[in-house]
Amino acid sequence: MNEWLLYGLLALLPIAAYSGFRIGRKQSKEHRGTHSSLSSNYIKGLNYLLNEQADKAVDTFIDLLTVDTDTVETHLALGNLFRKRGEVDRAIRLHQNLIARPQLKSEDRNTALYQLGLDYNAVGMYDRAVSLFNELLADPEHKSESLHQLLNIYQLTKDWDQAAKIAEQLQSSMGEEQSKPLAHFYCELADQKHLEGNSKAALVNLKKALSINPDSVRASILQGDIYLQQKQYRQAIKSYHRILKQDIAFLPEALPKIAAAYKEQADDKGYKQFLNESLERDAGVSLLIELSKIVQKEQGDKAAAILIGEYLQEKPSLKGLHRLISLHIEHAHDSAKPSLQLLDNIVEKLLQRKPRYECQNCGFHAKAIYWQCPSCKEWSSVKPIKGIEGE
Ligand SMILES: [Zn+2]
Repeated sequence: MNEWLLYGLLALLPIAAYSGFRIGRKQSKEHRGTHSSLSSNYIKGLNYLLNEQADKAVDTFIDLLTVDTDTVETHLALGNLFRKRGEVDRAIRLHQNLIARPQLKSEDRNTALYQLGLDYNAVGMYDRAVSLFNELLADPEHKSESLHQLLNIYQLTKDWDQAAKIAEQLQSSMGEEQSKPLAHFYCELADQKHLEGNSKAALVNLKKALSINPDSVRASILQGDIYLQQKQYRQAIKSYHRILKQDIAFLPEALPKIAAAYKEQADDKGYKQFLNESLERDAGVSLLIELSKIVQKEQGDKAAAILIGEYLQEKPSLKGLHRLISLHIEHAHDSAKPSLQLLDNIVEKLLQRKPRYECQNCGFHAKAIYWQCPSCKEWSSVKPIKGIEGE
């Protein structure tokens, strides 16, 4: 027999025995002198257990529990236990059994409905879960947690329209701050519209995202991308420029596109000014590498290497080292060239192996950007890594 199941059943025994004792006492009060059927059922359950027929044993023990005001809690605890152990069909049966009792108090019925919603959710029967959680919105006791469950389901099923509606409801009627996820929902909608080729609708959603959360880096990047595609370069630069104030850590993310927008405008001076301004605000080594390319073109390899070298003394990084070595290789003595080349290859391999992003909430590492952490589901928590191995 599955070892865990055995432990679970052993844990159930005292509950079943206690319940049996109560029922037995009740029944003996009602029909003095008659034997209750409990003991035979209890022994039947035990027999199943001993004969390693665990499924039948569990079902027999469930049947032993009668529903009354005193055992509702036990039912709910059992249902929860079954769901947590992955035996969701049993949890569903138990909760449906509870709800079907006409004598159940309405508060207990709603708790059982909520638990049944969690069961459906656990097996991916989202339509049923949604209809239960929607029903529970009328109960002030369950409103907040039902809204949260609905929000989770709509995020999971990528129904961003509904997710936005629920988040707005959480904000307006429960007073919960939702501006960060809400802005992401509008960005998701914008993404969808953009993919469908409807840039106008995408821009409307992005405007909404920015009005809800003016610090939404994602909205600025997406807006910049759409303007860039529409060849509205000045507008694109304006959108990307907003990242400096919103969260400068994300600037390297948009850097190639910012470079492209300035290039299309033939505005080298503007680009250099943008890089210098960003570096003054500690935007990261990627921007310095970009600046070093301009210095290299204007003043040669040596000036570019000096720029990188000075920066690395204060803020050492593998990325900067990689650029510094490549600037030196051309000018190195023939005897030193192979060693420098080897060093360059090693640094490059190290960089390829390192994750570039980290979740500030749970520590999840990634090589690509995630606006919602795949591990802890937090929004905007995955950020570019700073320091020697990052920016
Ligand atoms: Zn996380």
